[in-house]
Amino acid sequence: GAPRRDPWAGQVRLARVRRVIAVGAGKGGVGKSTVAVNLALALAAEGIRVGLLDADIYGPSMPILLGITACMARARVTPERHIVPLLAHGLPFVSFGFFLGAGAPVVWRGPMVAKAVRQFATGVAWPELDLLVVDLPPGTGDVPLSLAQALALDGAVVVTQPARVAAVEAEKAAALFRALEVPVLGIVENMTGPFGRGGGRAVADTLEVPFLGEIPFDSAVVSDGDAGTPTVLTRPQSAAALALQTIARRV
Ligand code: ADP
Repeated sequence: GAPRRDPWAGQVRLARVRRVIAVGAGKGGVGKSTVAVNLALALAAEGIRVGLLDADIYGPSMPILLGITACMARARVTPERHIVPLLAHGLPFVSFGFFLGAGAPVVWRGPMVAKAVRQFATGVAWPELDLLVVDLPPGTGDVPLSLAQALALDGAVVVTQPARVAAVEAEKAAALFRALEVPVLGIVENMTGPFGRGGGRAVADTLEVPFLGEIPFDSAVVSDGDAGTPTVLTRPQSAAALALQTIARRV
């Protein structure tokens, strides 16, 4: 059945953060984290005060994408015991992983996630932000559901791949947001080209939500990601970066 709000869970409204949007996906490996990082940087380049929260507890790839090494990842704590975000290419950044440390459970369940998220969300000393971009875990299971519920999201972007077989998962992810009354801001098609084209637009049409654009497959996106130097910064004139900048303006 449709997910229901847990009346006892309560949502965390972050002080000092005007708008919180999530980047989600129906399944892993579609480029969700890459899109989240590049969208955030593209928006920051427009003068918007953007922060980044890596809430993908299954595979926190954001520190790598942002070039954060293990020693930098030791986040500072204020005297009030709030985590001070790191600065990654100028953006305040926190990974759920910093907070969890070695004590993190190997197997997460929804209620544990909800509790941890509430502690975490209230335990970060975010600066004044116009927008916080949250990288959610992929899929529609207990964990992404609990995260999406706990964080009081203002909107969600769903990333999918061109092949139409990917559409089913993307539609499920969008349905999850809708069930939580989180507006779906639109669908992004990533890796357009070798895997085909059109799946993202088909999902958007089916769901009657905006199609935000397609990002071409580009091997430089992979090398930029591995090097921690996101494409919108290092190759702002590439087709992939231009697509990301256009999508950012539509979010
Ligand atoms: P997810 O967060 O959905 O699991 P990632 O952002 O970690 O996915 O990306 C998965 C892989 O795909 C990474 O190696 C990344 O560099 C690569 N990738 C993402 N977007 C593109 C693209 N447009 N072209 C080529 N490779 C991409």
